[in-house]
Amino acid sequence: MTATADYKTLAERASKELAEATATEALRWTVETFGDDFIVASNMQDAVLIDLATQVKPDVDVLFLQTGYHFPETIGTRDAVQAVYPGVRIVNAEAEQSVAEQDAEYGPKLHERDPNQCCHLRKVVPLRKTLAKYSAWVTGVRRVDAPTRANTPIVTWDDRNGLVKINPIAPWSDDEFNGYISEHGILENPLVSIGYLSIGCAPCTAKVAPGQDPRSGRWAGQGKTECGLHG
Ligand code: SF4
Repeated sequence: MTATADYKTLAERASKELAEATATEALRWTVETFGDDFIVASNMQDAVLIDLATQVKPDVDVLFLQTGYHFPETIGTRDAVQAVYPGVRIVNAEAEQSVAEQDAEYGPKLHERDPNQCCHLRKVVPLRKTLAKYSAWVTGVRRVDAPTRANTPIVTWDDRNGLVKINPIAPWSDDEFNGYISEHGILENPLVSIGYLSIGCAPCTAKVAPGQDPRSGRWAGQGKTECGLHG
């Protein structure tokens, strides 16, 4: 059997065995199973997942998709994460082309004309290339984020990227999530406090009115709800 087939079988088994696992149990299993061979993804909206992961592995690798379109506050949060969790190694995954090079080839503001292609070039491809160096990745996807995420398992096989995917906080409600932030004083992107409840690239992120779906601020009016990273 190939390593891929081995890991696929492992993920299928762990999916059942860890179906009710706490976030810490899922992360401990990840470290015991993969050692250094996994990475934690963060969009730098907050450091909840990073805080949980560093409790079981202080020198964990953290993946940040540096699209070139982030808010300065998001870059600041990334740098603050490095200061607060000095052991972590932040891996900035970048697109092959700079924004200027992309503008020269495809025309400016591709995100307005074809956000799927822009996300493919600046997120999906760099993610895939980075994940190819690991056997597993950990994400902060939660079931309450969106209807498309309602059945997110704690452990699964990520067929698209060819590695094991762990979603330790998948079952967490908003109350649990916000409670963890306030109880532990977790670092948060300052944009959250002024109404940006789901933060992505600046051109594709809007404020969300009170009571509205947090992800309604992403690609507002463009009929797009996901980057293609977790679908
Ligand atoms: S979120 Fe917007 S700017 Fe960022 S990669 Fe996707 S389309 Fe481009």
